[in-house]
Amino acid sequence: MNNNEAYIGIDIGGTNTVIGLIKNNGQYLKKLEFPTNSTKQFDVYYQTLRKNIDSLFNNNIIKGIGIGVPAANSMTGIVENPENFNWGKINLHEIVSRDYKIPISVINDAKAAALGEMAFGNARDLKNFIQITLGTGLGCSFVFDGKIVNGQNGLAGELGHTKICNNQRQCACGRRGCLETYVSASGVCRTAFELICSEKNESHLRNLNFNELSAKIITNHALKNDLIAIETYRITGKILGEKLADIITVFNPQAILFSGGLVSVGKFLFEPVKEAIDNNLLHMHKNTVELRVSDTKINYAVLGAASLVIQ
Ligand SMILES: [Zn+2]
Repeated sequence: MNNNEAYIGIDIGGTNTVIGLIKNNGQYLKKLEFPTNSTKQFDVYYQTLRKNIDSLFNNNIIKGIGIGVPAANSMTGIVENPENFNWGKINLHEIVSRDYKIPISVINDAKAAALGEMAFGNARDLKNFIQITLGTGLGCSFVFDGKIVNGQNGLAGELGHTKICNNQRQCACGRRGCLETYVSASGVCRTAFELICSEKNESHLRNLNFNELSAKIITNHALKNDLIAIETYRITGKILGEKLADIITVFNPQAILFSGGLVSVGKFLFEPVKEAIDNNLLHMHKNTVELRVSDTKINYAVLGAASLVIQ
């Protein structure tokens, strides 16, 4: 391999897009980031994406581009109406292949994260696990016998859009009651706002209006022992843990690996998750599943997307 040969991995998130120039051993040579502005049309986004990709061709021989994006079908390369995006249905593989005559791969972002963790991260020793990405939405990927579960049409793993009881919140998918309406960055904001209205505890979050709230702010307040922020994550963790107990009962994984912005709140989320899992598991499944957290300093979805085109 020439010294200046490299691969491009791209993680398109609802908030930001991260692009990595990657060596074949998973080492980052360069990292770029820009706001996705997902409420704008795809054509507007693609101009910015191209500019960023082009900048990496200087002095480098790019051998392939792998792209992780929500609502992508890795079998067809088509991205269909991702929630929180104003893109509609696009054939991303075809569009990118027209501009770059090198191997191109498109995959669902949660599956990209699982691939990255398996190749270079915290899942290198795992054969049966569930990858959960807690970001703008809730991404999920199932890995069994060392392989990503794609399903018949490449669409398996949409855990964020399974329903939870007594939930009337409207989801970005248009339906009501999805897990993601609680367990995601926007879900956390909605829960905090409800608690501000229903509870009397003092909280610095009361000084913010709804549009100023963010999961990051709520996390920072939880870490400073703000009671509304802590209760927000207790509710979030309980709901997630109850759902995961069902998933563990059905799939018997060895571990669940969490990544995404929300994991930085640590014990305020994961203690309630663990408690809810323990309280709802069949006896034979108790204490069989390890909860792991990704190293959030490294974007494994970028590495996983790149791994698709690394020979
Ligand atoms: Zn939904």
